Amino acid sequence: MTDLSFQLADERAMVQLGECLGLACADGAIVFLHGELGAGKTTLCRGVLRGLGHQGAVKSPTYTLVEPYELAPCCVYHFDLYRLGDAEELEYMGIRDYFEGNNLCLVEWPAKGGAVLPSADLLITINYVNNGRAVDITAKSTVGQAIIHRLQT
Ligand code: ADP
Ligand code: MG
Repeated sequence: MTDLSFQLADERAMVQLGECLGLACADGAIVFLHGELGAGKTTLCRGVLRGLGHQGAVKSPTYTLVEPYELAPCCVYHFDLYRLGDAEELEYMGIRDYFEGNNLCLVEWPAKGGAVLPSADLLITINYVNNGRAVDITAKSTVGQAIIHRLQT
């Protein structure tokens, strides 16, 4: 499937990529974000939210597991499953409802959710490269492919 790669020198470039990604995802999608602690997953999500019109702060949902944002283009649910003990907790919080309709779900540490999570439309992997970051975006569905196509144009 289609792939895109970016080399980003600083946080500002990461937020800018997020803004473009947000606009490309306005019809909804499930996006998994991989990368070590401090790689820039939350920074990228902040850009996505900005791109979709969010003006306030962006809290890391490390303790709440999910932060909801009702924005004009779509509802965005930002997950961070780093501290999730048991994937079954996701069942109790009614995880399925979040992933319905035209919502945009951004999921940090998706592996912690195991099989309870639906499959992703886009996989994003962030790696440290010198003082910057390499961001790889892979489409995993036709929805994901359309998003990558929008990002390229
Ligand atoms: P994560 O959510 O992956 O744990 P955060 O987004 O919370 O990571 O933190 C990322 C850190 O890296 C922040 O200090 C941010 O300023 C910095 N950062 C983000 N993107 C880049 C980049 N492209 N190059 C260098 N530093 C970056
Ligand atoms: Mg984070």
